[in-house]
Amino acid sequence: MTTHAPQAAHTVTLPGTLDEAVAALAAMPAAVPVAGGTDLMAAVNSGLLRPAALVGLGRISEIRGWRYLDGHALLGAGLTHARMGRPDFAALIPALAAAARAAGPPQIRNAGTLGGNIVTAAPTGDALPVLAALEATVIIAGPEGSRREIPVSHLLAGVDLLNPGELVGFVRVPLLHAPQTFLKATGRTGPGRATASVALVLDPARRGVRCAVGAVAPMPLRPLEAERWVASLIDWDGNRGGLDPQVTAAFGEYVAAACIPDPLPLQDGSEPIPLPPAAIHLRRTVAALARRALGRALA
Ligand SMILES: Cc1cc2nc3c(=O)[nH]c(=O)nc-3n(C[C@H](O)[C@H](O)[C@H](O)COP(=O)(O)OP(=O)(O)OC[C@H]3O[C@@H](n4cnc5c(N)ncnc54)[C@H](O)[C@@H]3O)c2cc1C
Repeated sequence: MTTHAPQAAHTVTLPGTLDEAVAALAAMPAAVPVAGGTDLMAAVNSGLLRPAALVGLGRISEIRGWRYLDGHALLGAGLTHARMGRPDFAALIPALAAAARAAGPPQIRNAGTLGGNIVTAAPTGDALPVLAALEATVIIAGPEGSRREIPVSHLLAGVDLLNPGELVGFVRVPLLHAPQTFLKATGRTGPGRATASVALVLDPARRGVRCAVGAVAPMPLRPLEAERWVASLIDWDGNRGGLDPQVTAAFGEYVAAACIPDPLPLQDGSEPIPLPPAAIHLRRTVAALARRALGRALA
């Protein structure tokens, strides 16, 4: 582990292992972990955060790659978007690779990491709907070499939180060996934050379709009824691509209405206030993304 102090009062510690990083955080409770720094330094530069010390995760080689484990891929939290976008990774987890390729401009993809995307938990985090659709879990490193594993969705929903001094070490993703897609709308040309995104994966072994919608709520949303409905109509043993286009279109509408529902009737029985135009537009966007995502996965 090396430590040096740049100007000002900041101490930057650069541990070489995950457990050393956890120990460094335990020794300096005011320190903040930093991976690629794309989110953290934006907060520092805008004056929102003044960390007393930083624990850099960039030299921890054990979390910068991935390996196979029991039909799963164990992804290091330090994998960059650029690395996940490469063809070998895309052959493994196509939807996560597509999300990584869509995340910001090249300099952000070169530095920004999977772990940082998860911990920041921004509604527009591109990896997040993919991880929700894949039902991925995170392995969290704690004091004295302890590890615990929780669903990514629990972390994003705040059902389970990172305790002070804990780090996201790995993300466990099932390898489904079936088509999967990620599509993102940004409302502009070129790289940009999602206004809506849809991740969709086929799980032929469980005869399942799993879909998650990003950016329209604080965390990715799973339209479970729409998933079950469309999965029941797919010919899993024969021609998966033979689904009627009207069904694909109806799936898009079903997903969109589940994620951006109609307002409830008012308590006095009067007509509900209609959805505002922006919400109607967003619903159309989600419907189109979900329809296309299913169509591409079944093609
Ligand atoms: C201009 C710009 C454009 C962007 N565009 C997109 C986009 O299109 N799509 C998108 O998804 N994101 C985008 N981002 C956001 C950002 O790049 C991603 O969220 C990135 O994945 C964050 O990773 P990082 O390694 O840089 O995180 P950091 O900035 O290093 O850390 C972010 C937070 O996570 C914590 N942290 C990091 N790693 C760990 C860990 N292993 N364990 C525990 N805590 C940890 C840090 O303490 C900090 O609180 C953009 C950012 C910028 C500045």
